[in-house]
Amino acid sequence: MNSPATPQSWEQRADEYSLYGFTDLPSVAQRGTVVVTHGEGPYIVDVHGKRYLDANSGLWNMVAGFDHRGLIEAAKAQYERFPGYHSFFGRMSDQTVMLSEKLVEVSPFSRGKVFYTNSGSEANDTMVKMLWFLHRAEGNPNRRKILTRWNAYHGVTAVSASMTGKPYNEVFGLPLPGFIHLGCPHYWRFGEAGETEEQFVARLARELEEVILREGADTIAGFFAEPVMGAGGVIPPAKGYFQAIQPILKKHGIPFISDEVICGFGRTGSTWGCETYGFVPDAIISSKNLTAGFFPMGAVILGPELSDRLDAAIAPIEEFPHGFTASGHPVGCAIARKAIDVVMNEGLAQNVIDKAPRMEAGLRAIMDRHENIGELRGIGYMWALEAVRDKATKTPFDSSLSVSERIANASTDEGLICRPLGQAIVLCPPFILTDAQMDEMLEKLDRALTKVFAEVA
Ligand SMILES: *Cc1c(COP(=O)(O)O)cnc(C)c1O
Repeated sequence: MNSPATPQSWEQRADEYSLYGFTDLPSVAQRGTVVVTHGEGPYIVDVHGKRYLDANSGLWNMVAGFDHRGLIEAAKAQYERFPGYHSFFGRMSDQTVMLSEKLVEVSPFSRGKVFYTNSGSEANDTMVKMLWFLHRAEGNPNRRKILTRWNAYHGVTAVSASMTGKPYNEVFGLPLPGFIHLGCPHYWRFGEAGETEEQFVARLARELEEVILREGADTIAGFFAEPVMGAGGVIPPAKGYFQAIQPILKKHGIPFISDEVICGFGRTGSTWGCETYGFVPDAIISSKNLTAGFFPMGAVILGPELSDRLDAAIAPIEEFPHGFTASGHPVGCAIARKAIDVVMNEGLAQNVIDKAPRMEAGLRAIMDRHENIGELRGIGYMWALEAVRDKATKTPFDSSLSVSERIANASTDEGLICRPLGQAIVLCPPFILTDAQMDEMLEKLDRALTKVFAEVA
């Protein structure tokens, strides 16, 4: 037993017993962990009573804020009714039945089927296993390779981390073999000198076709993409990107999976990111705001063709040997049903549509005031400001300066949570944000930028 002679602070206790994931440890060593006790609307409150406007909605997911009564009541009511069950052996909760109906109803598909997981990573893993299973059953056992893009984020399990296109996965010896990363459709960063956006998109489409021909279409299981890359730095696709690549995938019989873990349920200003960008995928991956962050849950939503093909593949062996103990958890399903209703029918999705132009204008004004902001990019309620040493040449700051970490830390001091990603600062506030809260967010960010750019200039 550890019995410290002097009482320890919350910060010390956090350090001593908790392993931090995705955390800049020098910042924590210098500043201490922010230990949070509760939330009020879009604010979180720490153990010292300090309030922070969480402009990242937790991790993109707490879209209805941190104390939504309707969601809390829905959770309580379902805990009273039936606090836990699985979806194995021909049994599942009534809540699970109703959520699947709802998800297919709000999906872009005329019909389809849903499979539940506990997270977005597991939903992507599940989709990959479905594709492997399906192609094998159809006599194409070599269709196993998975195509994704550089800067994509699809999760952290061994398979979904292999799909993620970030260099930090090298420390795990990932990606696994057979996971291929295509070019990132970020025109501002990766467009070549003199290349128009159309030419850039044509180049990415050519690259896709070349990779398919090089690898052999009959070795490729599927293509996964986020409509807007989220954790890769809020990267909306170059204009016409999905229209250019989808026909190529179709031509080679490669299923197109839309990872809507962030974009789904209103973040981009439509129910789905694929709707915003005008394409219909073969399946959708959902998580994060599926439950407005009130329960860990993910879902694979299969469109009609993949549903039918998977059913046909399962028929001969009479069972799909996959599932998680808590797949389709009744409390998660009850919360998700309520969350969908809250977002779509209580004005939250509408708030994003109505206020996105105001947010964009506010951020553009900030960019105009700071010569060290090179790009503002985003849509709906997901935006990033890219810090640069030199705007004209798009030269980044020396990475040893940790510019975006400094901006996030300076924001935290101001009482604003925003996230550093590479040299960008990401803002993806809860959908309930009022005009006054938006102004507060913009003012605090502006002050943090002024402070940090003065330090590093
Ligand atoms: C967060 C995220 C995931 C992973 O979800 P987890 O619940 O953290 O496993 C997958 N895809 C996208 C697009 C995400 O943003």
